[in-house]
Amino acid sequence: MREKRQKPGGRFLFWIALAGSVCVLGGCRVRMLPFEDKVVEVEDDTKEEAKKAIEVKPSATPTPTPGPTATPSPVQPILDEAASYALQYDYDSAIAFLEDQPEFAEDLALQTAARKYRNTKAACTEWAGEDITHIFFHTLIVDTSKAFDGDEDEAGYNQMMTTVDEFNKIIQTMYDEGYVMVSLHDIAVFDEKGKMSQGSIKLPPGKTPFVLSQDDVSYYHYMDDDGFARKLVVTDDGEVKCEYLEDDGSVSIGDYDMVPLIDEFVKEHPDFSYRGHKGILAMTGYNGVLGYRTDIAYKTGENLQDNQIEFLNDNPDFDFDKEVEEATRVAEAMKAEGWEFASHTWGHRNATTSSAEELKVDNERWEAYVKPILGDTDVIIFAFGADISNWEKYNKENAKFAYYKSRGYNYYCNVDSNRYWIQRTDDALRMGRRNLDGYRMYYNPEMCEDLFNVEDVWDNSRPTPVPEM
Ligand SMILES: [Zn+2]
Repeated sequence: MREKRQKPGGRFLFWIALAGSVCVLGGCRVRMLPFEDKVVEVEDDTKEEAKKAIEVKPSATPTPTPGPTATPSPVQPILDEAASYALQYDYDSAIAFLEDQPEFAEDLALQTAARKYRNTKAACTEWAGEDITHIFFHTLIVDTSKAFDGDEDEAGYNQMMTTVDEFNKIIQTMYDEGYVMVSLHDIAVFDEKGKMSQGSIKLPPGKTPFVLSQDDVSYYHYMDDDGFARKLVVTDDGEVKCEYLEDDGSVSIGDYDMVPLIDEFVKEHPDFSYRGHKGILAMTGYNGVLGYRTDIAYKTGENLQDNQIEFLNDNPDFDFDKEVEEATRVAEAMKAEGWEFASHTWGHRNATTSSAEELKVDNERWEAYVKPILGDTDVIIFAFGADISNWEKYNKENAKFAYYKSRGYNYYCNVDSNRYWIQRTDDALRMGRRNLDGYRMYYNPEMCEDLFNVEDVWDNSRPTPVPEM
């Protein structure tokens, strides 16, 4: 049992310490930032790079004129489709697809391909959850000159956020090292008796599974004008991109955050995704979701925070129903692309210090105002990493667990600095997540070594030292 790796005693304190640090940016800050108009002309490499990433579409390669000997195989489209399954490690589907073809019994190329996939599958290793790492980010900093502009939010951004440039380097390095994104739902599954059991992740030699998550993808009001995207949108082509508000008031559409960056990356490198699975987004609801102001308070006008009042004053044409409709469209497009959603509690609640009753009231809000947009989820990713139990396994005597379990939550994530932290009982999976942010990279670069070298990815526009927590 891997749980024995831990040193009990230190762990709970560690979570509490993290509770004060890790996710504070997503926290329920009830204050406005000064919204002065800044005229700052700064070279913005990060954003330019992000833009380039989407502008540089592969140029059309001229189709070679087939010579007399280069007759394309009539079964090539079949081979290509089978290959697309195999590229994402779904060898069974690749083989079944080939065998289902009427040509299969006669066609040597199809038979050879099926044999090849059978051999690859046989060489695969099965991965246990105990050996799978889980990394997470917050929304990514697009314009570092704005995030690190010396205002009162700079320290928090520097500690808890990652820049687009750093993220791209981390992901490229992990891909080069053979990492493959898997879902929490691949790691553990309910067996036919309804018991949570090990899932079956099979990867060829040289490949290593990991889970990717991102917290607080709400584009909270307090982040306005601080160099982050402002919302996710679906383009006419059905792709999910970010909207970014430029200094001149124009709006750019591009890969300004994790979701479109990973979508583009997987388009180029399908083998970075296990069977099409991508990351999971941990979502609150109090400022809406995905940059849309979908909380009921924006409709009723009740219990508004100052920055919500300011938002409504600045947007007299605000249309609540349209907002909900657009957010739902984005969520659906994301799910179709392999993304998943988790509750991060509605109000970014600290589940360690909140009572079971408070968590129930909070979760009812999530179910009422977030779930209709994002859909059902059985995953809760705790805000602040603040868990509902210490290292001891969950059980039904724990009123918080009993409540969450009764509402259908089966997967629970805290924050843990170890490479691996997992605990599975008959009815739940718990997994620790590692923050890859300014604080971790600055103070504990050795804790990132299994994934990348901090000096290779560090964004030099960060002010140093990164403030201590
Ligand atoms: Zn958070």
